[in-house]
Parts: sequence; C-alpha cells; structure tokens
Amino acid sequence: MVKVDEVTIREVDRLLAGVYGDRRWRRHAEPIDELIATVLSQHTNDINRDRAFEQLKKRFPSWEQVLRAPVRSIASAIKPAGLSNQKAPRIKAILQRIAEANDGNLSLEFLKEMPTGEALEWLKKLPGVGPKTAACVLLFSFGKPVFPVDTHIFRISKRLGWLDEKVTEAKANELLDQIVPNEIKYRLHLNMIAHGRQICRPQKPKCQDCVLRNLCEYFRIQQGAERI
Ligand code: SF4
Repeated sequence: MVKVDEVTIREVDRLLAGVYGDRRWRRHAEPIDELIATVLSQHTNDINRDRAFEQLKKRFPSWEQVLRAPVRSIASAIKPAGLSNQKAPRIKAILQRIAEANDGNLSLEFLKEMPTGEALEWLKKLPGVGPKTAACVLLFSFGKPVFPVDTHIFRISKRLGWLDEKVTEAKANELLDQIVPNEIKYRLHLNMIAHGRQICRPQKPKCQDCVLRNLCEYFRIQQGAERI
C-alpha cells in the first residue's frame, strides 16, 4: 500500500529540484542499448555495468553481431558485470525476441507509438526483464511517463514512510507509478537517485544535511528515539 499523497510527492520533488536541479528530458541511449545496459546492471554497480557494456560493444560493434555470436563469447565480453553465464543467454534471447517481433530488425523504435501500458507489458515479456528495466527503457529512451523504482528510490521511499514495510521493489514500481504525477516522473526519478547516492545513503544517511527531514518518517523516529 502507498501511504503518501500527491501533494507531498510534489513537495519532495520541489525540494530535491532545489538541490539537484531541474531535469529536462533527453534521450540517454538508443532503446536496445538502454535495455541491454539495464540487464547488465542487475546485481552490480554502474562502473562494472559500464565496463561490461563497453567491452561488449568493442567486441561486437552491432547488435546483429551479438545475436549471431556464441553465448560463451558474449559471456566472456560481459564478465565485468558478473553473473555473465546468466546474463549472456538472456541478452541473446532478448535480441532474438526483438528480431522475431520486428521482421528480423533489431530495433525497439516501434514502442514509441505504443501506448505506455502496452509497451511496458511487451518489454516485461522479454526474458529477465522486470518492471524496473522495462520502465527505464521507456523513460530514458522514449520519455514516456513511467517511474522506475531502483534500489535508491525504494530505500528513500520506505524511509520517508511512503510504502508499507512489506511492499516489494517490483510492487513499488507499480504503486509509485500510479501516484507520481506524469510531468515530474523523469526529474523526481533522477533526483531521488542523486539524493540516495549523496545523502540518504544505505548506511548512515546524512539526515542533518537532508532537505526532506521534515517530511521523513525515519528521521522523526530517530529524533524520538534520541529524546528518550
Ligand atoms: S531525513 Fe534521513 S532518512 Fe530521511 S530522506 Fe533524509 S537522509 Fe533519508
């Protein structure tokens, strides 16, 4: 269940935009690049993901080449991302499905014309693609109004008291997507991630430096505990 209203979300967006800036949408990467990079990022950090992606592109400059390559060669190229024996067959299977859906073409541009909900469902049917990965592709490559919930956003949302303790990250994608207003989804997503990296870190959040502390359940509870 979501325990926050739209007014509070807009206030959080305003406060974070004051610190991290307004964000105008720009295409981050070609949709297939975005999709494969997000698959590579599963269970690893951005540095390892980027190294794996660069090695893959260096070894196979086109996605057609990746599609034709043996799984073991893909696995060797993406080793820095970890779990390469799982990710390599997944990448190949994803490319196969895209080609099948597209008369042999390796392109996801057809998603642009699809209604957002339909495009999300189409992506989620690809092997190993969950709600966050699907939402990232639609938000970053097409500017569609979706709100991917990554590990930082999930943690901050819980600390702020927006989500029940039992809500999973996958469910949080669906719940927050419904309540975050479309026009702030891109900015809020990026600014919450920046906040999670710099202030509301996994360990020892810097609450005294946080512009959200007056809206935060975690902070309120900590303050109460210190007074006892
Ligand atoms: S007050 Fe602390 S826990 Fe709450 S959002 Fe800010 S840094 Fe995170």
